[in-house]
Amino acid sequence: KGPDPDVVAIAERLATVKHKILVLSGKGGVGKSTFSAQLSFALAEMEHQVGLLDIDICGPSIPKMLGLEGQDIHQSNLGWSPVYVESNLGVMSIGFMLPDPDDAVIWRGPRKNGLIKQFLKDVDWGEIDYLVVDAPPGTSDEHISIVQYLQATGIDGAIIVTTPQQVSLIDVRKEINFCKKVGVPVLGVVENMSGLRQPLSDLRFVKSGEPGETDATEWALNIIREKAPELLSVVTCSEVFDSSKGGAEKMCIEMGVPFLGKVPMDPQLCKAAEEGRSCFADQKCSASAPALRSIVKKV
Ligand code: ADP
Repeated sequence: KGPDPDVVAIAERLATVKHKILVLSGKGGVGKSTFSAQLSFALAEMEHQVGLLDIDICGPSIPKMLGLEGQDIHQSNLGWSPVYVESNLGVMSIGFMLPDPDDAVIWRGPRKNGLIKQFLKDVDWGEIDYLVVDAPPGTSDEHISIVQYLQATGIDGAIIVTTPQQVSLIDVRKEINFCKKVGVPVLGVVENMSGLRQPLSDLRFVKSGEPGETDATEWALNIIREKAPELLSVVTCSEVFDSSKGGAEKMCIEMGVPFLGKVPMDPQLCKAAEEGRSCFADQKCSASAPALRSIVKKV
């Protein structure tokens, strides 16, 4: 039996892509698409040529997160053309093909696999440095086929996104074991929504109302600012989810995979995602952007 013609076609198509990164999560709603979108923005801002492929077929949120809602894909004799945010950031998603964004895609495995295969085979990315693949959550049949197809041309590895609580981490362990089993290197784990960190300017001080009386919160913060500025992030950060068992970092040590870092919950990041913007473009995402930037540097 000769080589699978689909695998050969995909390998040929993706020969112009230098690095392929798969973004995975054990569960939905942990911020995988947000991370994929911001990773792509960050790589593009570093002047790389970037492609973002959204194969989360049941919940394609990438068009919205990149500010591309309502856009169409075009076909040329070279294949399907991605939709471009910038000349060096192209995006492909099933979301572009749905007539109505409210349409639920309820497809069975083989049809989903068919579309994923077609995406990998027919999208004309051109010469690019990075292809970021936003995969569906969990470990399903689709994942096995994605990995098989990507492995034919070499895949750099997977980044796994999780939240700090045990229910999410249990699924991440499964995800890591899946990667080990199918031979995809784990580039690392990102702990998202890790505490709620508020910049000091956002803190509402309790004013006593009495003129001349020192406001207690401001007074305490001033002392910390002066004597131990490194503690500011601690006093302005509250844990949202229970991470008393050590969170993702401890799990990474146990499982022998790299821990890439924590991204706090940041209302401004959520807003940037809703509005399809990069969180690095201005100073608004002061709680999450520095964390994301340091993670991107490790990738
Ligand atoms: P997934 O792809 O894992 O299903 P999403 O990326 O769609 O998750 O994120 C779910 C929601 O949470 C989105 O509204 C997103 O903007 C928001 N979100 C993700 N990460 C953060 C964060 N660190 N702070 C605030 N909101 C976030």
